Amino acid sequence: MKELFHLINGKRVKGKSGRFGDVFNPATGEVQAKVPFASNEELDYAVTGALKAQQSWALTNPQKRGRVMMEFVRLLQKNMEPLAEALSSEHGKTIPDARGDIQRGLEVVEFCIGAPHLLKGEYTDSAGGGIDMYSMRQPLGVVAGITPFNFPAMIPMWKFAPAIACGNAFILKPSERDPSVPLMLAELMLEAGLPEGVLQVVNGDKTAVDAILDHPDIQAVGFVGSTPIAEYIYSQASKSGKRVQCFGGAKNHMIVMPDADLDQAADALVGSGYGAAGERCMAISVAVPVGDGTADNLIEKLIPKIETLKVGPYTAGEDMDFGPLVTKEAQQRVLGLVQSGVDQGAELVVDGRNFKLQGYEDGFFVGPHLFDKVTPYMDIYKQEIFGPVLSTVRAKNYDDALSLTMNNPYGNGTAIFTRDGDTARDFANRVNVGMVGINVPIPVPLAYHTFGGWKKSGFGDLNQHGPDAFRFYTKTKTVTSRWPSGIKEGAILNFPTIN
Ligand code: NAD
Repeated sequence: MKELFHLINGKRVKGKSGRFGDVFNPATGEVQAKVPFASNEELDYAVTGALKAQQSWALTNPQKRGRVMMEFVRLLQKNMEPLAEALSSEHGKTIPDARGDIQRGLEVVEFCIGAPHLLKGEYTDSAGGGIDMYSMRQPLGVVAGITPFNFPAMIPMWKFAPAIACGNAFILKPSERDPSVPLMLAELMLEAGLPEGVLQVVNGDKTAVDAILDHPDIQAVGFVGSTPIAEYIYSQASKSGKRVQCFGGAKNHMIVMPDADLDQAADALVGSGYGAAGERCMAISVAVPVGDGTADNLIEKLIPKIETLKVGPYTAGEDMDFGPLVTKEAQQRVLGLVQSGVDQGAELVVDGRNFKLQGYEDGFFVGPHLFDKVTPYMDIYKQEIFGPVLSTVRAKNYDDALSLTMNNPYGNGTAIFTRDGDTARDFANRVNVGMVGINVPIPVPLAYHTFGGWKKSGFGDLNQHGPDAFRFYTKTKTVTSRWPSGIKEGAILNFPTIN
């Protein structure tokens, strides 16, 4: 059995706690590797190394730090196929989808090549008589990231690339479900010229996470995962005085107005609802057609598209639409929620419950499902399903559709399909959701903008990537300076003001 490791001070380090987790091949259900779960001592060892490495890394000029990122981009491009293969084999997503996962991380690394520009401070010449004032952005020290299983390449890179470009050292605690790609990324960072100890990968479960939250030398924590854990990490890390940003779960609504192009809307719902088997925080999981006529026509267009989706292992070819869920528990949870939808009176118009794939009977596959006539009181509406299940909630008019979206506790992403500019503009201005698509179903902002949800989808200040990441991973120092020729004689006891 393959045994994975931690990556500390540039070396592969075997787990010493004696505790391990299973890493599955979700397509076959087999355990393909064991991942070590770190103890407090192992985490502390990584932090000690990071503290030492960070001091000289912070003194390395930002242009040189940017050049490490530039070389890392080149290595990511060169290693795209082995990375995608490793990612698909542990996560289950298709190879083209795995490439997308890596590419969206790579684009944030590209943005970080511009660290010298992004870290430039501000300067005011002659703010007062002989007085100049300037502010600079300085790294925080050692910071940590705790990441989810569903984007094992993109989200670790969203976290560590800006943190490291700012001059911090980074402790990454990736998901225990698919830890191989984060380890490969860290080794590529070393190959790109990153000094040992600046990026440490510590594998583990709650013990490692709690050790991060309690460690006095970790200055900031970035988290992405489910909402209950986001809330836990936000409160624990804040309590111990850390800077913290936590991104949680989602229930993304897509409103379909009567004037929308329904073929486009149906394609958008199929792509965003079922891609990656629905295991995306920006997946559309609720379709909100406005008016019964729109709903009937939309459902009629959706059914054949959903029934003909190709579900299979990534090894079956690049034309597969989606693969298995990540674990048996995820599979059972999703099927349980589907059953609750049926029991609570929703209409299951595409039923994937009996999906079976010959030769892969033990894999964690779930066939695609489509529900109509879902109401906000049903569990399939209230809970994040994180599977290939799309729920349709019919709205009478635009105002009802908007209120439904706004009353949902989550606020990660949303979309509206319409040809009417006024409606689209009104929606974008009023909706209380962090990322909005207008005829775009998965509005994931590009690397130079920022990514973040509202309400129960995001806790803390500042978003991920883009300029916000450079603010999150630095603290501002402001210097007021005056030289002897600008100093007037005599002590000034009044509070200084500029007149
Ligand atoms: P998860 O919350 O189970 O795990 C995320 C991380 O937290 C992992 O590293 C895990 O080891 C750790 N963790 C799990 N339980 C813990 C506990 N009790 N105490 C401390 N740490 C714990 O999430 P997941 O299943 O890996 O990922 C799926 C979730 O992530 C979905 O809810 C999805 O919407 C969300 N997500 C959100 C975003 C976003 O940007 N908002 C992006 C991707 C995924």
